[in-house]
Amino acid sequence: MEKKDIKSLDLRELTEELTAIGEKRFRATQMYDWMHVKLARSFDEMTNLPAAFREKLKEEYEYTSLSVEDVQTSSIDGTKKFLFGLKDKNVVESVWMQYKHGNSVCISSQVGCRMGCRFCASTLDGLERNLTPSEMLDQIYLITRLTGERVSNVVVMGTGEPMDNFDNILKFIELLTDENGLNISQRNVTVSTCGIVPRIRELADHRLQITLALSLHATTDEKRQKLMPIANKYHLDELMDAVDYYFEKTGRRLTFEYSLVGGVNDTEEDARELIGLAKKRNCHINLIPVNPIKERDYVQSDKERIEAFKARLEKAGVNATVRREMGRDIDGACGQLRRKHIHSEE
Ligand code: SAH
Repeated sequence: MEKKDIKSLDLRELTEELTAIGEKRFRATQMYDWMHVKLARSFDEMTNLPAAFREKLKEEYEYTSLSVEDVQTSSIDGTKKFLFGLKDKNVVESVWMQYKHGNSVCISSQVGCRMGCRFCASTLDGLERNLTPSEMLDQIYLITRLTGERVSNVVVMGTGEPMDNFDNILKFIELLTDENGLNISQRNVTVSTCGIVPRIRELADHRLQITLALSLHATTDEKRQKLMPIANKYHLDELMDAVDYYFEKTGRRLTFEYSLVGGVNDTEEDARELIGLAKKRNCHINLIPVNPIKERDYVQSDKERIEAFKARLEKAGVNATVRREMGRDIDGACGQLRRKHIHSEE
């Protein structure tokens, strides 16, 4: 039988679990603190637990603890890209970025992805499996241990579609923002989605204070469908209704991600249409110069075009930033490091 994943339990569940096997309630608080505050890597680190109890834990429970398979550090900006190993030998990528306002970690939510966005390296091999809440948390915990620095922002923008792993994402956010754990503010958590409409609405109903980022990338269904297969399933009007619903329920300003692809979605007309969408809502536009992957022939818009696109938005009173290209020298684009790793072993 598969062992229970103890690091994915919240404090209430952990307390129930441990009292059911005859332990005192305070053991749950102690263990929760070891797992989610002290960031212990194993049961053996939990030195104030009796040795016999630790042995019992090892027999009965799975303790998620990722292994470090590779680390690349950018010589340009200090960004670190980690390749972490999971217990089933799969690997996932996480990125650590330093900003003036604090350290930010970008985590993966799935091993691979089945969304098929045309410009994205994470989806080229399809979906392997969902990540558990503890496997998502441990990307942050292990980076905190390795860098020795507190993580203040978490973005779920690595490999995977978080809305395709919905229940685990909710549990992950609950544990990450728990005051008994790392206690990261919900406001410092961003979840990015390609636009799975029913899940956006469901997330809105939870009324969390996290930021929703929508990967928009195009302003007409026709153009969006060329870049993102999900656009065939959910059309822009229902997608915009869903993000408006998210704003209505949470009051959180929306983020629209717009990856600029040379000659595809970077014209004056594209900017005008984007302004049309953005002016109606409380939102911020995050322009991302597309990071070319060798399997596809998409190219980046040139610098002047990117600046002109941004200037048009700003002139119309739309809030826009061009995402700094962190770690360009270290397999920067989503899924590139993992892909390099798995294909080097073939
Ligand atoms: N599945 C989620 C989150 C992962 S991708 C989503 O679709 O939002 C995070 C962001 O990076 C998305 O906006 C995605 O479209 C974008 N992205 C992926 N590959 C890219 C590339 N090669 N260049 C620029 N942006 C890319």
